[in-house]
Amino acid sequence: MSQSRVYLVGAGPGDPELITLKGKRVLEEAEVVIYDRLVGDGVLEFVNPQAELVFVGKESSNHSRAQEEINRLIATHAKRGKKVVRLKGGDPYIFGRGGEEASYLFNESIPFEVIPGVTAASGVAAYAGIPLTDRRYSSAVTFITGHRMKGEGIDNLNWGALAELNHTIVFYMGVANISEITRKLTENGRSSMTPAAIVSRGTTPEQKTVLGTLSNISKKAFENNVKPPALLVVGEVVNLSAVLNWFEESGNALEDEPLEAVSFRMVTEKAPAFG
Ligand code: SAH
Repeated sequence: MSQSRVYLVGAGPGDPELITLKGKRVLEEAEVVIYDRLVGDGVLEFVNPQAELVFVGKESSNHSRAQEEINRLIATHAKRGKKVVRLKGGDPYIFGRGGEEASYLFNESIPFEVIPGVTAASGVAAYAGIPLTDRRYSSAVTFITGHRMKGEGIDNLNWGALAELNHTIVFYMGVANISEITRKLTENGRSSMTPAAIVSRGTTPEQKTVLGTLSNISKKAFENNVKPPALLVVGEVVNLSAVLNWFEESGNALEDEPLEAVSFRMVTEKAPAFG
């Protein structure tokens, strides 16, 4: 029996239309689709109705064991000659364990392809009106996980370097540790007035953006009852959200708070002319 390929596919951050054409095509051709918690329902509608859908996104207290089981599951279906899609939220290679799964397939001599996706940082920032780089404010961006800090010790991160670069920082999985993250940045020299945003459920109709600064974003996130999945974006570029937030402003999102006119003026006064 000829062995089929495994496709590691990025589903994008939520809006189903943000999947790539290639990703959509392999979902239409798939025989087995193994998918995660963060994959939006809309994307699953692209899946071939005959395909077997396997959900592997349950929270587990033992992540590494769960990952081992997922690896084996993918390989077992592939060895049966099935065309397998491993569908993951965002991009498979950005905080998605896609690298571990691809390495496992390599070790098992199972052919695979990786189909990238729009990662949460770029998709969510676009829908929240935050250009992650903008030559007026920041010429670099760092993607970082706020989750490793749990149990692994926050000293693993070079906070001094992060604060000193004065650039845009996007924290994935940071909601639970937001007060610690903002404190570490300011302790290490980043101004407490640095703009910060929390965007939850980005690119979906439930998208919600909470704007603040390093000194108050943690409190505001709590007050606004921000729930994961959410991203924390830190840096001057966040100010642009006040004017560029086309998605929530146009009624695409079920936003309940009006934009602040004060932030709007601040941005337009600050931005130098283009060119
Ligand atoms: N591979 C994924 C990331 C997985 S880690 C990607 O490339 O996007 C999961 C984290 O991604 C969440 O904790 C959250 O920080 C972020 N995330 C994913 N989808 C999101 C969304 N729709 N809105 C806000 N953050 C999101």
